[in-house]
Amino acid sequence: MKVLVINAGSSSLKYQLLDTANQQVLAKGLCERIGIDGKFTYKAPGKDTIDAVDAPMPTHSEAIQAVLDALVDKANGVIASMGEIDAVGHRVVHGGETFAGSVRIDGQVMAALEACIPLAPLHNPANITGIRACQAVLGPDVPQVAVFDTAFHQTMPPVAYTYPLPYEYYEKDKVRRYGFHGTSHKYVSQRAAAMLGKPLESLKLISCHLGNGSSVTAIDGGKSVDTSMGFTPLAGLPMGTRSGDLDAGILEYLMGRYNLDIREMLDILNKKSGVLGVSGVSSDFRDLGLAGEQGNRRAALAVDLFNYGVKKYIGAYAAAMGGVDAVIFTAGVGENSPEQRLAIASGLEFMGLKMDPEANNVRGKETVISTPDSKVKALLIPTNEELMIALDTAALA
Ligand code: AMP
Repeated sequence: MKVLVINAGSSSLKYQLLDTANQQVLAKGLCERIGIDGKFTYKAPGKDTIDAVDAPMPTHSEAIQAVLDALVDKANGVIASMGEIDAVGHRVVHGGETFAGSVRIDGQVMAALEACIPLAPLHNPANITGIRACQAVLGPDVPQVAVFDTAFHQTMPPVAYTYPLPYEYYEKDKVRRYGFHGTSHKYVSQRAAAMLGKPLESLKLISCHLGNGSSVTAIDGGKSVDTSMGFTPLAGLPMGTRSGDLDAGILEYLMGRYNLDIREMLDILNKKSGVLGVSGVSSDFRDLGLAGEQGNRRAALAVDLFNYGVKKYIGAYAAAMGGVDAVIFTAGVGENSPEQRLAIASGLEFMGLKMDPEANNVRGKETVISTPDSKVKALLIPTNEELMIALDTAALA
């Protein structure tokens, strides 16, 4: 089945056309600056690359149309006609408590997505716009599926998702831990079971999605039982620019001292904190590694603080599950930084995790990176959210 995967942001739209039969990517790319001027990028194996060329995109509809035109282009396309697209899978950030899995989109689902907007006011409207644009351009006969970042975590028990706030804020206002990166955590947990040659239902896994945004998830028997992000993706680990968890009392203190309103304060917590804030250098872990090597102590502290945070979650989630069979490293940092994986796992020998420094010296490839006698396995698994979305979409379409 040929599935078009769409990840729509407010002014951008990422796409991939995948063949789920052989899990091959036929073409992929990006529309940027939608509603401003418009830039179009397209890559397909054996075809000419289109790299950020000007293409007018007043709305997401023109962006989708540009994607379809490129896919069916006589010289440079990968399909003969739009009719070859069997289904469209959309990444949707927030499904609230309504969606515990992917769904085929109909009128009722659209209404439920609208109802989730207050939970993700920046992301969900863009996702909905992407769905509407696809419906308009492709017509009603092409099945569209929504795949949620939050859905995988809907299996968390109340003890993991309830905040210690007055309970009415949960009952009336749905304030609870939702968790994000669910598609990634689900994908790598399935791959981990395949790598270990054991049924997923029998495994206790800790999945560390470490990128610009980072989260750690405890997965027991294939189900998310706890995760580090919360009501919003601002919670949990320190990240590229997000603070992660902190004492809420700090907000009042800083807002009072610097006369900040809550929007300015949240802008600091979302965009100026994390490893960028601590280092003052960059949100990019490669820059921080280099700066640290050149003696920049704050850059080194930022990386140490991040690694320490991940290590603490691994310990906490092993305790929460009463053991762990494997720790998974994925996303930008998890897949590409042998140094950070080693630093995170160092000191965890007491719980049976022994890294193999030689096996660990690898990037972006499914590999067991613990020693053969390590009781707890460490696994490097490149994530593939687009493939997971395409497979869910194909199953539902
Ligand atoms: P992501 O959000 O998953 O795309 O991850 C982006 C993060 O991965 C950035 O902070 C990158 O610096 C980091 N990253 C990518 N390659 C490496 C590398 N070789 N070493 C350390 N960090 C890396």
